[in-house]
Amino acid sequence: MLNVCYQCGTCVSSCAAGLVNPQKNIRKLVQALIRIADESELGDIDLLWLCTTCYQCEDRCPEGVPLTSLLIQLKNMAARRGSVPASVQKEIETLAVHSYTYPPVKSIASRRKRLGLPDLPCPEEGEMKMLIDLARERFK
Ligand code: SF4
Ligand code: SF4
Repeated sequence: MLNVCYQCGTCVSSCAAGLVNPQKNIRKLVQALIRIADESELGDIDLLWLCTTCYQCEDRCPEGVPLTSLLIQLKNMAARRGSVPASVQKEIETLAVHSYTYPPVKSIASRRKRLGLPDLPCPEEGEMKMLIDLARERFK
């Protein structure tokens, strides 16, 4: 699947994460993945946790390399190894408690009201925690 990559760079020129931090380069990641023999050689890949799963790279790759799906898979593999950055773990905990990674503050609620926007949706109490617990079970 990765061997069809001819290093054109379309993916990296579409990537917001790479724009913010040029060290995080999806094209170079593909190059590195082609070279390694198995998962034990992977190590920590910083780009993983900056990726917003926007699918721009995957949608634009002329060779149809499923880049975003690959990054999601690599995130799952990292999670199984217990290699999740503290900041991401904190976001998961916040999500479990507030149902948002960044809990909405009062000023947002009042601004939405002023603009005639509906209240932000909120899952039923405990629903998000249940989903996270289910996901954790899967990754054991
Ligand atoms: S856009 Fe596709 S072919 Fe081009 S460098 Fe990226 S993965 Fe390779
Ligand atoms: S899916 Fe991730 S790697 Fe691909 S363009 Fe978006 S942020 Fe970059």
